[in-house]
Amino acid sequence: MTRRDFLQQSSALASATALAGCVHPPAHSPAPTVPALPFYDRVPTLSPIRAREDRLFKITVCTRPFRAEGPRIEAERVGDKLVVHNYGHGGSGWSLSWGSGTLAVDLALAGRDPSTTEVAVVGCGALGLTSAIVAQRAGARSVTIYARDRPSETRSFRATGSWTPDSRIALTRAAAPGFAAQWEQMARTSWHYYQSFLGLPGEPVEFTERYVLSDPHPTAAEQKIRDDDPIGFAYYMDRIRDLNPRFEDLPAGSHPFPTRWARRRSDLMFNITAYAHQLTEDFQLNGGRIVHREFHAPSEFAQLPEPVILHSTGYAARELFTDQSLTPVRGQIAWLIPQPEVNYGLLFDNLNILGRRDGIVVQLSAQGEVSGWNDATETVDHEEAVAGVRQLQALYARMAEARRG
Ligand SMILES: Cc1cc2nc3c(=O)[nH]c(=O)nc-3n(C[C@H](O)[C@H](O)[C@H](O)COP(=O)(O)OP(=O)(O)OC[C@H]3O[C@@H](n4cnc5c(N)ncnc54)[C@H](O)[C@@H]3O)c2cc1C
Repeated sequence: MTRRDFLQQSSALASATALAGCVHPPAHSPAPTVPALPFYDRVPTLSPIRAREDRLFKITVCTRPFRAEGPRIEAERVGDKLVVHNYGHGGSGWSLSWGSGTLAVDLALAGRDPSTTEVAVVGCGALGLTSAIVAQRAGARSVTIYARDRPSETRSFRATGSWTPDSRIALTRAAAPGFAAQWEQMARTSWHYYQSFLGLPGEPVEFTERYVLSDPHPTAAEQKIRDDDPIGFAYYMDRIRDLNPRFEDLPAGSHPFPTRWARRRSDLMFNITAYAHQLTEDFQLNGGRIVHREFHAPSEFAQLPEPVILHSTGYAARELFTDQSLTPVRGQIAWLIPQPEVNYGLLFDNLNILGRRDGIVVQLSAQGEVSGWNDATETVDHEEAVAGVRQLQALYARMAEARRG
């Protein structure tokens, strides 16, 4: 999740407000007038995050597998095997996993009787694990995952855990023809599947509140991000605007934030530790097996006993299948010790905070959309992690000051 993801999803509401005659106040004017919230929709008291450097318990870095034309979901023959690729989901792998898995499994089982088809899945990240379950649900006779790393060691495990289906998913100028419609189908299918994980013990998936804080009007901030985006990422959220609840502007005095604008929305969140555990358990309970195995060339796929292979090695496909269309987009997260009472997210400037059950995400994207572009280094930047925590401290200091004032 990035500042752009948050802001661009709120544009419809902002436009509606503008249409209703709400003129953006000039900078430094008093807080804008927004209609009072009804009693049933008030902002609850928010527990503060203990934003201290010594509470950082880990820093993770991961490479988003980005492809300018969008993910590769297509079939190829490797020897006598049918290999269906399912990789290259940029910053949207978790969010699109069910829809993408469904497309891949449809290709894999086309013209076959699932009940007699043994399926192999290479990769056990968001895409491999999910498509393996989709193959089971489609009735495949057996499904076996072969992977170098188990879920907790994959890049997927280092994700923010937000519903961001169009985050770094394609470039406007290079997206494959028809990709926008395919994207919509994947997003809608995934949204539907995610509903079945709500309310389970351990909360693998839940809705929590997100607050977007800004001094310029959010629409202006969003426009600036688009104008300043030198990469040209594609934006598709308008196509599924009916799925998410809308962002709402919060009236001054109804919230504790020190910025001129504060908006709120309930959003889907993935507690990835619990969610990956749940997926692994579901897969194994349905007879799935996970086998440790590393492949060094596509020709090694021929040694697998299964005739059909779903291939989901994410960024590693760049080397394994010499796919130079994969561009690395680096991302780092600093993790504060979880606080069960902190179950909300904040977006302020380039700081993204998400209170998850397994840790509080502190993500600083200092360079906006260019952040991490074409950078495959996965070494930790400790200074950046500390800078994020300090920025959060500074926000709380402003909140305390606003309360005193
Ligand atoms: C900082 C950050 C935050 C993110 N936040 C979000 C978010 O909030 N929401 C969202 O939807 N997405 C998010 N993403 C994107 C998401 O994490 C990726 O799109 C997703 O992880 C890609 O999953 P994957 O299964 O394709 O690849 P991976 O997770 O990399 O899994 C690849 C699998 O293939 C195996 N493998 C690789 N090479 C071989 C080999 N040679 N032989 C055998 N096995 C092999 C690996 O061991 C692993 O099991 C984020 C990404 C980053 C970097």
